Amino acid sequence: IAAALVFGLAACGGDDSSGGNGGGGGEAAAGKVGVILPDTASSARWESADRPLLEAAFEEAGVEYDIQNAQGDAQRMNTIAEQMITEGVTVLAITNLDSASGAAIQRQAESQGVQTIDYDRLTLGGESDYYVSFDNTEVGRLQGEGLAQCLGDEPANIAFLNGSPDDNNATLFSQGAHEVLDEMDQYTQVAEQAVPEWDNQQAATIFEQMYTQAGGDIQGVLAANDGLANAVVSILARNNVAGQVPVTGQDATVEGLQNILAGEQCMTVYKPIAEEAQALADLAVELVRGQEPTVAGSVEDPEGDREVPSVLLEPVSIFRENVKQVIDDGYQSAEDVCTGE
Ligand code: BGC
Repeated sequence: IAAALVFGLAACGGDDSSGGNGGGGGEAAAGKVGVILPDTASSARWESADRPLLEAAFEEAGVEYDIQNAQGDAQRMNTIAEQMITEGVTVLAITNLDSASGAAIQRQAESQGVQTIDYDRLTLGGESDYYVSFDNTEVGRLQGEGLAQCLGDEPANIAFLNGSPDDNNATLFSQGAHEVLDEMDQYTQVAEQAVPEWDNQQAATIFEQMYTQAGGDIQGVLAANDGLANAVVSILARNNVAGQVPVTGQDATVEGLQNILAGEQCMTVYKPIAEEAQALADLAVELVRGQEPTVAGSVEDPEGDREVPSVLLEPVSIFRENVKQVIDDGYQSAEDVCTGE
């Protein structure tokens, strides 16, 4: 990997100018914001990006907050939510582990007069007052276009490794990718499977089976995030074809960016989490102050009779050529990305 990292990489040449948080500023507000993140294993983003960026945004806004992580356990998320409500949280944001458990939390919150926000994942059939995320169908389109860009016009067999069937985002990612790839006659879709809970171990097992069943005749893989992509790369490596089969990803994780620089991953989708965290903080602060925020967009809940006022941010495609963009943005440091194992 070292050679690949050194070779002509603008990304690894510059210094790390991470933005950071100026601190202070906002006038103090009564009330408190609770945030419950989903897990630590499905993506590095939750603890390495969302938590510190949310902390910075809440500090800046001068609002009291409590951020916790449900560690992949829906029951635990429910318990944390109950505790937060008891402790006087007036706005509760969750990234649900599945819509049913998320909706139960939101119903409970609503009955106690606590307003709720869906952070990143929409709770289908839920009660959320607002939704903050990226344009997730667009994320999928970027993945589809990215895979096509890396594959080119030659005929190719492609496989889809989708995210958790319990995550509405995973459905949207897959829809977006299909929108693009279904139109491309040069590609044959030979396999498609969802990975429960985005579990990377299971992803490797599932992809190994796909690869074996296809007799190794797979030339491209639509993997829904960088963790799944890394699982795919590990199986391709075992079959001595890592680097020859383009694989997509998402989240611009250190591991994902390193795989891209090493030529083993085609692209990732970078979602500037600083913007997402800021959008959540802005909304939460207004709600805590008893104001009624107006947001530009809305999404329809396909399992509820409601339109949810939404902030939907723009994702960005990252290939080998523009890895530096993620570093320049302060999202990852050159130090971390360029230290190849
Ligand atoms: C998020 C992705 C993340 C995945 C697994 C999705 O809902 O949008 O950024 O990679 O969950 O945690």
